[in-house]
Amino acid sequence: MKKGEEIEFIKDGKRLDGRTFDELRNIKIEVGVLERADGSCYLELGDNKVIAAVYGPREMHPRHAQDAKMAVIKFRYNMAPFSVDDRKRPGPDRRSVEISKVSREAFEPVIMREYYPKAAIEVYVEILQSDAGTRTAGINAASVALADAGIPMKDLVSSIAVGKVGGEVVLDLNAVEDNYGEADMPIAMIARKNTITALQMDGRLTKDEFGRGLKLAMNACHQIYELQRTALIERYNKRESVKFEEREA
Ligand code: UDP
Repeated sequence: MKKGEEIEFIKDGKRLDGRTFDELRNIKIEVGVLERADGSCYLELGDNKVIAAVYGPREMHPRHAQDAKMAVIKFRYNMAPFSVDDRKRPGPDRRSVEISKVSREAFEPVIMREYYPKAAIEVYVEILQSDAGTRTAGINAASVALADAGIPMKDLVSSIAVGKVGGEVVLDLNAVEDNYGEADMPIAMIARKNTITALQMDGRLTKDEFGRGLKLAMNACHQIYELQRTALIERYNKRESVKFEEREA
């Protein structure tokens, strides 16, 4: 498919992959998948597969980058060379630097950084497989991994993209919709407070479309929040029951 080529994005009220306009892709969340990280999460959002790992809080190095009043959040988003159709050149590029910055900023309002002066909280997001929306999948996974690491947070952050394809405002764009559609707007928010912590837009939306997109994203973030919360509860219930069985034995 080439840019500008006519694609029939919508047919009989359904999208190319059979979803309705306001339908999320399948989401799977697993907590605590890595032994050596303080907190971790594996997350699937449709065909996106991502891992988030958290280290810290620990002493910030180099020392001159320390903040005497609060912890510094380091966030590294990285796309594996095998995660895309055409092999991606390994290492950081402009896109990953931008996504890392936006993702870090999405967490700054919730992490209680003032508890850990001079410390660093490190978040690593590795994209293993991509199908658009990797930054949102990464933020959702990082949020769960931060909670798994026991980092004090005011709340979880949830994230999803909305956009415009075939003249319709739709939720959670896949790669074809993202690459050939008219607009893409990834959003991160504290779902329980409807507070937006990150918002980007690629393309154009009218004021009305923007409002409708925001509403779709808010509803979806509430759903994602519940999935994040359930995954964390399941993980810690399991851990508690193992401990109990050990005590009984
Ligand atoms: N993509 C790619 N190669 C790249 C960057 C992106 O194939 O070097 C694909 C990938 O599937 C990604 C999608 O384009 O998920 C959309 O990328 P975008 O920059 O919009 O970020 P995302 O939607 O993943 O947050």
